[in-house]
Amino acid sequence: VPPELPLQPGSTLDLPDTVAHQVRDVLRLQQGEHLVLLDNSGDEALCSVMNLSRSRVEVQVEQRSPGKTGSTVKVILCQGLLKSSGRFELILEKGTELGVTTFVPTICQRSTAGLGEVGSSKLKRWQRIVQEAAEQCGRARIPGLAPVRPFARVFDELPEGALVLMPWEEEKAHHLRTTLKAARTAYTEAPAVEPLTVVVFIGPEGGLTVDEARIAREHGAQVVSLGPRILRAETAAITAVANIMYELEC
Ligand code: SAM
Repeated sequence: VPPELPLQPGSTLDLPDTVAHQVRDVLRLQQGEHLVLLDNSGDEALCSVMNLSRSRVEVQVEQRSPGKTGSTVKVILCQGLLKSSGRFELILEKGTELGVTTFVPTICQRSTAGLGEVGSSKLKRWQRIVQEAAEQCGRARIPGLAPVRPFARVFDELPEGALVLMPWEEEKAHHLRTTLKAARTAYTEAPAVEPLTVVVFIGPEGGLTVDEARIAREHGAQVVSLGPRILRAETAAITAVANIMYELEC
């Protein structure tokens, strides 16, 4: 729901039309049933349906508490822009479910789209996909969607103390799994930043170049393998984030 709705215990409110439609026509809740409302504050509000008609749905807030679906690790996914919008959107949806904190659409050397080619309607669509995925999986905070960035620019804005990872199809020696296990041990012994922050770069369909791997290494990134087979960009992104969460989320 919009952040201006007062989700305070004891208050009753009329739900905005789109939320009322979901409650009445999609979830088909009845009077007296419970639902959880999220206002992107990080809290969740347990509510009960008071009145329900074609024209309005009124709920009462019973309890407000910190959301339980946030992640203990902050993951910033810098995803090379893809030619296929559908596959980029799949990354937004699955990344949101897995707990990505911020998506950074990144223009890599082999991205076919440039800065000017991601218009406001596409950005709005991406924002909606992320929001719906967050609602679907009950995230109390919607992940951020940063403006489109050129690859080199992303390195100027890296958060201090972050673990920076670049899965690269040409890397054969270092596996993501080993790197994450070492990072977990190091972090448990001496946390560099709170919360643990991981920045991960995934290339576009044509992959990342030798030049990009060099730039990443020069900025302290660990270039890693995801295994012997070349994964589709969306498989690589989902695999990398799933492994990061598996190894590092408490
Ligand atoms: N051509 C395929 C496509 O259309 O999706 C494959 C793209 S793959 C080259 C895209 C990115 O996924 C790579 O730049 C890299 O970041 C990641 N990736 C895929 N397979 C990988 C592997 N075995 N090890 C490390 N990274 C990998």
